[in-house]
Amino acid sequence: MQEIAEFLRRTGRNIGFVPTMGYLHEGHVNLMIAAKDECDILITSIFVNPVQFLPGEDFEKYPRDFMRDYYVCKQAGVDYIFNPEPDEVYGENYKTFVNVNDLSERLEGKYRPGHFTGVATVVMKFFNITKPHFAYFGQKDAQQVAILSKMVSDLNVDVEIKVCETLREESGLAMSSRNVYLSDKHRNEATILNEVLNVAKNKILTGDYEDAKTLKREMKEYIETKTPDCSLQYIAITDNYLLKKIDDLSDYEGEVLISLAAFFGKTRLIDNILFTKKI
Ligand code: AMP
Repeated sequence: MQEIAEFLRRTGRNIGFVPTMGYLHEGHVNLMIAAKDECDILITSIFVNPVQFLPGEDFEKYPRDFMRDYYVCKQAGVDYIFNPEPDEVYGENYKTFVNVNDLSERLEGKYRPGHFTGVATVVMKFFNITKPHFAYFGQKDAQQVAILSKMVSDLNVDVEIKVCETLREESGLAMSSRNVYLSDKHRNEATILNEVLNVAKNKILTGDYEDAKTLKREMKEYIETKTPDCSLQYIAITDNYLLKKIDDLSDYEGEVLISLAAFFGKTRLIDNILFTKKI
């Protein structure tokens, strides 16, 4: 892959890269379309990265179907699929990891310690292997975008990060490979996440709230009243750069990110909303 990428670069081609864990859906295809539009060559990786899963998480049962993904990639105009085995990526005695301090411990990091070290490490490795000019990520994983953008800036990585909007089902549920785990009932109920994020956004923009803490409590109550099956893990209201908690919303100007994670049965879903607030 590295030799191919080097050849493509030397022959003047612009490389776009879309890293994924496979079991592709329209959210992934959306990234591929954006990359295809802006680059000469599109490389997609399909790799369920063991290093970003914690013990007890769903690494083993994460949905995988290479042939299905292959046809999705073909349809989307992917030029190269990079689909290595974990042993090839992390050889014996593997020792080197990339950690974006502080940002990685916030939000998701509190509940998935070590997760973003795994993400930053594999993305850095894949950047070195696929040598892209542009790499495409979904806003669905807002913290991932913030962390990788910081990594690229701090380590002077010669790749431009492009962020594409979150693709949703008609119901508002954010598309995710993990949605296949959901029962019909939970799939319906999970639409509450996008709903509550939009309610909170409107409240913040219209000034219809007391303070950030109360607003988060109201969001929690709203979810728990409407969908008793849902177990909310966290709601956070932060900036979109260092992911620091915004305590005083009324005084805050700039991008506001509201993120949350919730369980429906055993399935853990994340979602977020990003908007600009003026004083
Ligand atoms: P994954 O395969 O879940 O690791 O995701 C690969 C890439 O697709 C990441 O950049 C994700 O943020 C992005 N992605 C996943 N779901 C969506 C979605 N619903 N809308 C937009 N991008 C997404």
